[in-house]
Amino acid sequence: MTDHAEALGALKRYFGYDAFRSGQEGLVNAILDGRDVLGVMPTGAGKSVCYQIPATLLSGVTIVISPLISLMRDQVDALNDSGIPAAYINTTQDSDEQSMVLAQAARGDIKLLYVAPERLETERFRNFATRVPISLIAVDEAHCVSQWGQDFRSSYLGIGEFIAALPTRPIVAAFTATATERVRYDIVTLLGLRSPQVTVTGFDRDNLYFDVIKIETKRKAAWVAQYIAQHADESGIVYCATRKETEALAASLNHTVPILRAASSSASSMANGPIAVAYHGGMPAEVRDKAQRDFVTDRVPVVVATNAFGMGIDKSNVRYVIHHNMPESIEAYYQEAGRAGRDGEASRCTLLWNESDIVTRRRLLDTDYENDRLTPEEQEIVRASKRRLLEGMVGYCRTTDCLHTYVTRYFGETVTAGATARCKGGCTNCDHTFETIDVTDIARNISRCVHDVMYDYGDDGKPTRTPVRQGLGSGKITAILRGSKAQDLLSRRLDRCPSYGKLDGVNEARIRDVLSQMTTDRFLFVTEGRLPLVCFGERAAETVAPDFHYEIKRIERKPARTRTAS
Ligand code: ADP
Repeated sequence: MTDHAEALGALKRYFGYDAFRSGQEGLVNAILDGRDVLGVMPTGAGKSVCYQIPATLLSGVTIVISPLISLMRDQVDALNDSGIPAAYINTTQDSDEQSMVLAQAARGDIKLLYVAPERLETERFRNFATRVPISLIAVDEAHCVSQWGQDFRSSYLGIGEFIAALPTRPIVAAFTATATERVRYDIVTLLGLRSPQVTVTGFDRDNLYFDVIKIETKRKAAWVAQYIAQHADESGIVYCATRKETEALAASLNHTVPILRAASSSASSMANGPIAVAYHGGMPAEVRDKAQRDFVTDRVPVVVATNAFGMGIDKSNVRYVIHHNMPESIEAYYQEAGRAGRDGEASRCTLLWNESDIVTRRRLLDTDYENDRLTPEEQEIVRASKRRLLEGMVGYCRTTDCLHTYVTRYFGETVTAGATARCKGGCTNCDHTFETIDVTDIARNISRCVHDVMYDYGDDGKPTRTPVRQGLGSGKITAILRGSKAQDLLSRRLDRCPSYGKLDGVNEARIRDVLSQMTTDRFLFVTEGRLPLVCFGERAAETVAPDFHYEIKRIERKPARTRTAS
C-alpha cells in the first residue's frame, strides 16, 4: 500500500502542481488502495493525472487505453518531458519499433504504455500482457464501450475480456465525460469494474458566463457579426451544424465585421486581415491545418467550425464560444463550449437557438441513424436514448434555472449547498434577461392528466379501482387535455377522464412546451422505447402542493444585447 502523501509529492515533483483538483485526490487514493474507479469529469478537468500519478507509484506497468493516436503522442511526449518514462505502440510504428517498446516495458523501463483498444486483440500484445506485471489499466473515453452513447467503438468491447484473461487482475480505472446512467452502467458492467468508486466532478466552470438566446435563423449571422465586431481583441470559436454553414458564415463575417467596426469609433485601431476562418472535416488537410495554425497563433481571431474542431487543440485564451445551432446533447455542447476560458479568465458561452433547430435535430434522429450491427428494436432504443440526450439539450434552452446548476445537475455532480444559491460565473437566467410565463395551471392539469389516464372510466364516470395502464404518450395527453374528438380517444373512452378538455383553450405547442419542461425538471418522466410513455417523475408530488408555482421562459428575446463576461 502506498502512502497517500507520496501522491501529492509525485504531483509536485513531476507536474509542479501544489494541490490536487477537487475529485482527483479521491480517485488517486482509491487506485493506490487497489480499488477500481470510474471518474466522470469533463475534458480538461484533469483526468490524466488521476491515473498518471498512481502509475508512477505502483510497481508494474500501467496500460492506458486511448482511442486517438494523435492524443497518445502528445501525452507521451509530455510525460517524458516531466521525467515519467512513457511510450505508445500504434500503427504508425513498424514491427521493430513496436518490439523495442514492448521489450522496454517488459524490463520495467516504462511506467505508462499507451495503446489503442484494437491493439489488445493482437497475439503479440496478449503474449506481452501475460508475461509482464500490469498494475493498472486506465481506460480513457470509457463511454466508447457503450452502444447507447455518442461514440460507440466496437473495439472497446474487447477490453473487458482482455482484462479477464490476464493472469493477475490489475486495478481498472475508467474515465469519461458522459452523464447518462445507461452509459455509466455499461462502463461498469462491460469493463467488469469491481465495486468501483464513482466520482463525478469538475463540471462547473465558474469563469464561464452562459448565455442562451432564442433567435430566428435569419438573424443569427448578424448577431454573430455584431458580437465579434464588439469584441475585436478577443479570440473566439463559432460552432455551426454543417460544413456549408461554416464556410458561408466565415465569408459573411469577413465581409460584415470590418464594416461594423468601421462604423464604430474604435475602428481606427483595427488591424487588417481576415476576421474568421472556416474549419471542417471536408477541407483538404493542408487548408485545415493552416486554419488551425492561424487561429491558435492569433493570426485570425475567429474560427467558424463544425464539431470536427477542438479535439486535442490547446488554446487557452479563447474568450468566447458561440453556438450558431443547438447541438445534439449537453455532453456535446459542454465539451465545445468548455473550450472557452481554459486559462481561467472570464469567458462567454452563447447558444443561439430556435424551434427549427429542435425540429431539425429530431428529424435527423429519426432518419439518419443506421447501424447494421443492431436489430430494428435495438436501433429504436438507441434512437430513444439519443432523443433523451436531445431533450436534455432542449431543456437547457428552455429552463429558467441557473444554467450552471442545470449543467452540473445534468452530469450528476452533487451540487454543494453554496452552489445552489445562484451561479458564480454568471448566466442569463440568473441575470434575468428573459421574461417568464406563469404556467402553473397548465402544469397542474398535465400532472393531473398523467394520473387520470392510468385508469379506465365506467358509465358513471368512476375510475377502475386500480390502474390499468402505466401511462400514455405525450401526444395523447395533450389531445385529452385539449378535448380532442379523435376516434382512438373516444373508443378508449378517454373522454370520460376528469382532465378531458381541461385545457381546451390552450394551444397545443404551449402544452407540449410545458410538458417537455416538466420532464426536464423531473416532475415527469418519459420512458424509453418505441412508444415513450409519460409517467410521474420524482418531483411529481410538488405539483399538487398548494404553493406550487411554475414558470417557463417566454421565448423571443430582443435583438443582440451583448455584454462582456465580468
Ligand atoms: P482531461 O484528461 O480531463 O481532458 P488533462 O488531464 O489533460 O484533462 O488536464 C487538463 C489540464 O489541467 C492539463 O494542462 C493539466 O496539466 C492540468 N491539471 C491537471 N491537474 C491539475 C492540478 N491538480 N493542478 C493544476 N493543473 C492541473
